[in-house]
Amino acid sequence: MRARAFGLTDVGRRRENNQDSLLVRPELGLYAVADGMGGHAAGEVASRIAIDSLNDTLGSQGLATIDPGEAALRLEDAFREGNRRICDSVVARGEWRGMGTTIVALVALGDRAIIGHVGDSRAYRVRGGQLERMTSDHSWVSEQVRLGLLTDDEAHRHPMRNIVTRALGNRNDLSVEIREADVRPGDVFLLCSDGLNTMLTDSEILRTLAESDGDPEHSCRRLIEHANSKGGEDNITVIVCAWGATPKDRRASLSTLPNILKPSGDQAN
Ligand code: CA
Repeated sequence: MRARAFGLTDVGRRRENNQDSLLVRPELGLYAVADGMGGHAAGEVASRIAIDSLNDTLGSQGLATIDPGEAALRLEDAFREGNRRICDSVVARGEWRGMGTTIVALVALGDRAIIGHVGDSRAYRVRGGQLERMTSDHSWVSEQVRLGLLTDDEAHRHPMRNIVTRALGNRNDLSVEIREADVRPGDVFLLCSDGLNTMLTDSEILRTLAESDGDPEHSCRRLIEHANSKGGEDNITVIVCAWGATPKDRRASLSTLPNILKPSGDQAN
């Protein structure tokens, strides 16, 4: 089962530079979004190093034939390699001190997907008209939500929502979160940087995907347009992977949307 995939990045409406990077390799089933941070253009450097490192480490391997457990180990190793390269670059170039990056990556293996992340870049899965978050943000506001000190809605609007608690490049002992998910025909997976999900609620993201019929390229363009129309306060990067050979399959996955959205209203992040 192959995915149709498309990825797009946009500087947004407020920032001068785009510090996000992305990797779209459908032939390998390898997808990733990284969101860099740091002054003197260092954020761009950090996210690029992380993505290049992932591509160097996994891009030459035959991922399709390995089992999910092995893929998870390789993905974790690839993140560690990226972390090492960023830390080494900081030692070599003092002005890059403090640079780091989040990363979220998906490795597609037939009917399984391995999702790894560090920081607050996200993976979502759309199935049966519902949007499910496949990653939990490594961020200060998410910790407050887990502790019951903030609601989801308060976290979504909080001034400290950009503070991440894990990133590549900060320290040598990186903590990576990896999970395995099943993939069915009609599923749509979305990877994004926080420039998308701080501008749009989960239900706005779902509605935009539904309006695009799950077509990857159209979905990416509409999501970015929508995030920019809500302010575009940060760089916006999206990758949409749609499983299932026909638009009819994707419509089937998205078709129950209006019934689900109406009673519950707008679900805040
Ligand atoms: Ca960002």
